[in-house]
Amino acid sequence: MNQKDLNENIPEWVPENKPEGFATKIIKGKQTPKTKISNLTNKETKKLSAKEYVDGVLAGNRTILGQTLTLIESNSTSHQKLAHKILKLLFPHSGNSIRIGITGFPGAGKSTFIEALGLHLIKQGYKVAVLAIDPSSPISKGSILGDKTRMELLAREENCFIRPSPSSGTPGGVARKTKESIIVCEAAGYNIILVETVGVGQSEFAVRSMVDFFLLLTIPGAGDELQEIKKGVIELADALIINKADGDNIKRALIAKSEFSSALKYLTSPTTGWKPRVEICSALTANGIPEIWQIIQDFVETTKSSNVFSSRRKEQLLEWIFSIIEDELKRHFYENQHIKILFEELKPKVLNGDMLPTVAAEYLLENYFSHNK
Ligand code: GDP
Repeated sequence: MNQKDLNENIPEWVPENKPEGFATKIIKGKQTPKTKISNLTNKETKKLSAKEYVDGVLAGNRTILGQTLTLIESNSTSHQKLAHKILKLLFPHSGNSIRIGITGFPGAGKSTFIEALGLHLIKQGYKVAVLAIDPSSPISKGSILGDKTRMELLAREENCFIRPSPSSGTPGGVARKTKESIIVCEAAGYNIILVETVGVGQSEFAVRSMVDFFLLLTIPGAGDELQEIKKGVIELADALIINKADGDNIKRALIAKSEFSSALKYLTSPTTGWKPRVEICSALTANGIPEIWQIIQDFVETTKSSNVFSSRRKEQLLEWIFSIIEDELKRHFYENQHIKILFEELKPKVLNGDMLPTVAAEYLLENYFSHNK
């Protein structure tokens, strides 16, 4: 599919003037069967009420699902208000899914893996939603997007819904929108949620805080094993999957498997009562994919019977509150005009060594609190 085709196929849920960072390529997927709501024109759909959005999502209408996610991703205050109304009504219908996070450095094979796993799950009768988090950091810019056409086969499946990363905003903001998107997708009947993130920074931690099972994808050789360990990402993983175990790579993949297995013995598991598993696979040939799905099922069974599954979900709800509060407090602080001016005054003093950073921070906070009494 060339760029022209892609542009012509851009669905209406893609924001206008989408920034360059808008993730995953748009691929023409299955069209929503015509329903009363999806027959509405573009102009009319913009005027849907919260109830119409909710009914559309609950009926599994993909167009409305996409539009709801657009509202969630929008930074406009009126969109946010409407989105929150919708979320409130959808929330009781959410939760019935397995949320799986997938990370790995660019080129590890995440999209190929998600496609293979997604197709396997759809064959088993699941409905799969794929969401992505691209933290829009300068380091990761472009890495989750790529020029290639991604997950083309999966995108054509009627029981699959693929949504690119919210394109801009703070990492916290993007994570918050993805959490809300999970709720909406679940309410629309998707019972497997795959959240992809590129393994280059804070986004793994954000994804870990919104999924039940976290999977790290890597490849054999090139010293990557050590790097993953150093970054601490491995400590978040419930499974470590060595991809590209095909052709000449199989032997190296098996060596990596045994190295990782020994390394894992020294690390604490992120999930109580579960020992992280190491497996090899080839996303390209789908070899090993059923085994990986089996690992995930074992995990769900184990953690559900020990209640770790539900207590993690509860903890995540609380973390969700805290992260919003932290983000909003920071935003409120840094956007305060008075603080902005004071900060500019203090900056040279700190930089010249005339004022301790601690003193400056205390002074700013005191001023902020006294202005917000
Ligand atoms: P991502 O950047 O992590 O999403 O990686 P991609 O899925 O785009 O894969 C990067 C490259 O690795 C592509 O050229 C894929 O065809 C290739 N690739 C992915 N999985 C496999 C695999 O299992 N075996 C082999 N040989 N190549 C793979």
